[in-house]
Amino acid sequence: MLNNDCIFCKIIKGEIPCVKVYEDGKMLVFKDIEPKAKVHLLAVAKDHFKLISEADEARAELIKYMLMKIPQIAENNGCDNGYRLVINQGEDAGQTVFHLHIHILGGEPLEQ
Ligand code: AMP
Ligand code: ZN
Repeated sequence: MLNNDCIFCKIIKGEIPCVKVYEDGKMLVFKDIEPKAKVHLLAVAKDHFKLISEADEARAELIKYMLMKIPQIAENNGCDNGYRLVINQGEDAGQTVFHLHIHILGGEPLEQ
């Protein structure tokens, strides 16, 4: 289910543009608008839920599906020498968009 008030749902619906690098029935991957690394992609679930803590069995399967797809997508987009995956959960992590997404950061050596 998508949400009318959510920016990532609007991107999924094509109502807000993005630089898409991969899409299938379950996920969309596009470039982060404010990249924090040379390559900064966002893998977004095609189901509106806010937090990893809201994942039930079906959503956990969706996250697993995304994690299985990400290596090939990352390698195809300049992260062939490694990358970092990040999920921000809640306020202390600085989460700003409350629709489950996985940051893919790479394309250069990352700070520890
Ligand atoms: P988070 O802090 O984990 O919620 O990350 C949200 C990310 O979404 C940030 O890195 C933003 O730069 C990114 N973002 C917000 N709006 C857009 C947009 N319209 N297109 C691409 N990335 C976006
Ligand atoms: Zn959403």
